[in-house]
Formats: sequence, structure tokens, C-alpha cells
Amino acid sequence: MSNSTLKTVIVLDPETQEYKPEAHNLTADAAVELVNRLSEDNQKARVVDQKDRHRSSDLSKCKLCKQAAESASEEQPEVTAEESDSESVAT
Ligand SMILES: [Zn+2]
Repeated sequence: MSNSTLKTVIVLDPETQEYKPEAHNLTADAAVELVNRLSEDNQKARVVDQKDRHRSSDLSKCKLCKQAAESASEEQPEVTAEESDSESVAT
């Protein structure tokens, strides 16, 4: 179906702690598959919804991907080793 949301996959660069684009214009299935493959490779990948199809065929020149990666990097706080247990026991 043509109106399904396209996805961008971004990967966290362990050296800079910033996200960088890995792929774009993916279907949801392809995006999940890619993230799984990357996580098997110990890479932190994220899927970002695209508003529109990215026109740039060259990922490194795609401004929309760059923006997605940058905003993800910004919302990412300092990554510490300890995972915060979500102990929200609201009963
Ligand atoms: Zn893109």
C-alpha cells in the first residue's frame, strides 16, 4: 500500500555518541529487519518515521535523514552503562 509510513533507520556511533543515518525510505518490515541485524552486531539502531519519501538517493546527502539523526542525538541524554529499571509501581 502506498500510504504506509516509510522509515529511516539511524545508528548510534559509539565514538561520538551521535546518531547517523543508516538507511531511509524503508518499509516498516525492512526497517525492523535492519535494526535487528544491526543489534546482533551490537549496534544501537533506531527507527524513525518519515513524513514523506526522501528524495535524495544518496543517504550521506539526505538532509531529512541528517535532521532525524540530529534530533535523536539531542534527545538522547548521556548514555550510562546502567539501564534505568522502569520501576513505576503505580497501583
Ligand atoms: Zn533520507
